Amino acid sequence: MKKTGPYAEVIVDLNARRTDRVFHYAVPPELWDKVDVGARVLVPFGGRRLAGYVVGFGYPGGAVNIKEIAGVLDAWQVFTPELLALARWMAESYLCSTAEALQRILSPRLQVKGTRVVKHLRTTLSEAELEIFISSLDRAPKQAAVLRTAVKCPGLTRKELADAAEVSPSVVDSLVEKGILAVSAEEVLCRPGRPAGSFAKIETLDLNAGQKDALEKVAGAIRQRSFGVFLLHGVTGSGKTEVYLRAIAAVLETSRQALALVPEISLTPQMVDLFRERFGGQVAVLHSALSGMERYGEWRRVKEGAAPVVLGTRSAVFAPMPSPGLFVIDEEHESSYKQDGHLRYHAREIALKRAQLAGAVVLLGSATPSLESQFRASAGGPYQLVTLNERIDGRSLPPVRVVDMRREQKEGHRGIFSRVLIAAVSRRLEEREQTLLFLNRRGFASFVICRECGMVFKCPRCDISLTYHQDGRLRCHYCNYTVGLPDRCPGCGSYHIGQFGAGTQKVEEEARRFFPGARILRMDSDSTARKGSHAQIVNAFRDRRADILIGTQMIAKGLDFPGVTLVGVINADTTLHMPDFRAAERTFQLLTQVAGRSGRGSLPGEALIQTYCPEHYSITAAAAHDCNKFYQNEMPVRRSLGYPPFGHLARLLLTHEDEETVKKGAALVKELLNNLLPGEKKSVSILGPAPAPLGKIKDRFRWQLVLKAYNRNLLRDIIKEGLSVLEKNHSSFKPAINVDINPQGML
Ligand SMILES: [Zn+2]
Ligand SMILES: [Zn+2]
Repeated sequence: MKKTGPYAEVIVDLNARRTDRVFHYAVPPELWDKVDVGARVLVPFGGRRLAGYVVGFGYPGGAVNIKEIAGVLDAWQVFTPELLALARWMAESYLCSTAEALQRILSPRLQVKGTRVVKHLRTTLSEAELEIFISSLDRAPKQAAVLRTAVKCPGLTRKELADAAEVSPSVVDSLVEKGILAVSAEEVLCRPGRPAGSFAKIETLDLNAGQKDALEKVAGAIRQRSFGVFLLHGVTGSGKTEVYLRAIAAVLETSRQALALVPEISLTPQMVDLFRERFGGQVAVLHSALSGMERYGEWRRVKEGAAPVVLGTRSAVFAPMPSPGLFVIDEEHESSYKQDGHLRYHAREIALKRAQLAGAVVLLGSATPSLESQFRASAGGPYQLVTLNERIDGRSLPPVRVVDMRREQKEGHRGIFSRVLIAAVSRRLEEREQTLLFLNRRGFASFVICRECGMVFKCPRCDISLTYHQDGRLRCHYCNYTVGLPDRCPGCGSYHIGQFGAGTQKVEEEARRFFPGARILRMDSDSTARKGSHAQIVNAFRDRRADILIGTQMIAKGLDFPGVTLVGVINADTTLHMPDFRAAERTFQLLTQVAGRSGRGSLPGEALIQTYCPEHYSITAAAAHDCNKFYQNEMPVRRSLGYPPFGHLARLLLTHEDEETVKKGAALVKELLNNLLPGEKKSVSILGPAPAPLGKIKDRFRWQLVLKAYNRNLLRDIIKEGLSVLEKNHSSFKPAINVDINPQGML
């Protein structure tokens, strides 16, 4: 970038909002060629020396005392102008400082201190000179031995050379000091997994008509080199991955790079092999299980353009491709693309922004796209929709039966397993086929349901399920509406109302009781806590060393068991009644995926869903494999309440050891925010404060405010202003505040 002024503009690596601006520093002559936009430098700041990022050159606004940059921290520019623009956008969008955003973008590279450098030794003398020199070493036979070895095997390291000559390394050192041996340093980049050379390029299959059409559209946009977004909506098994791979190949032809993001659970060795078979050594793999050195090595290969194909999980979205042409996001609806904890970015949003900055194409793929993406891909929206309606193997999707648990109840069957499910499992045991029993994530918060009519208590204002509390009251975690629990169902008058939910252990117990001869495995966070036990269970089941596998979410995704012909969903209601406006969407996505697990081998499969709400559109649409039906039903609900994709939400989570402090703090923040909203008609509505569904974690109480607005910028500005008023006027404010813009979950 052009240097337009004498002073470097530096963002100091501090996380405070008030220091989030550029500071000017003079560049000493010896650093002129090293200090450029994208460099990390060391600067004097308030009596300390701190790291900072050079973001430009220019003049300060007024008369200021200019100090000098003290040093440069890396041997190269650590970020590109594109990534700097991204950091600035992140600071705006997620309400963090630019320094924090840059830390997040750069962290995988900066975690490694220095690089691993291997020093090779060579002789500095010619062969003839060396002969003479060695003959002069009568009294130093060890040195002579080292030199003879160095001639025979040039390029050994200090230790290798000493070992080969059977001397101590200090002998090698003395020859280096004399200048007879010279050290040449070579950087070695670590690489995870098998060496790329071990893959033979495989012949690829012909595309079907749907795939061809999808690829043509995407590849056409790639060749145009302008920003565009495609939603690839394809049923399970429709060959989306092949479309990704060919689109990546199309990007490589334009000499740009491609990034493919997959959820953590899908980044299996098979997936990595698939990419390496196609693109060989051009693939870099980035995920959280890499060692620091491996991750660093891959990042460098990406940055230097040696690996133009990046396959990775969430944080790989920041991979430093010099000129990205394509961002693929597989299973784009997955909530795991949203970062938890600090700086809650969404990888899909980051990819969209980067693509916009770089003039690249985004390819979002899913069998059950998020409502947000579907909405944007609907007629007149900014995304282009491409669909794959057929499975590549030509098989039809497995039939799904919905079991009405209310009827079981009425007819006196009160166990976890319905009669239909028991009969279906028994038949598989007889036929020596396998069964998956799936239990949605255990209800962390208990909802109350009527077992006669399936009615669930909901908040009249927010349309989310109310949570049962020990004081006997039901509470809304968005707006804090509370109501006492009646003893009879207001819908049907039944007394059979109460809390709900069984864990995987309970299901295992029951299964052992009903199917005494069956070999049963259980996979949940308890049984897989030991490292490697997850893989052991998966392998045992795949090798047919068990008849029934019981599990949570983990078994719903990615895993492929050809022997499974029955999938039973024990209880669809736990997800359906989570206190979250996305509960219906999550349920539909989970059930669709679970049903897709059945009948993947040569035998036809079947899925059974047990529920107290068999009429709910999440369940009927999943049973019919009908994404549109779900969409048509869910959209009006979202629209009427201003939830995404129509409006935007933000959650302010306050935490503190003392409950009164956090409660009062939340009330104060609400008051500050309300004061910032002018007029009668509020453009931002503030719900709560209410206790978070997980009311206490690690001895800290958690309260939340939920903000809703149609304008995302307005929402953001109000929060930003509120926090700065808080910082200025309430210096004794104690609770910690975490801001989440458009949260994916609010537990
Ligand atoms: Zn009822
Ligand atoms: Zn409410």
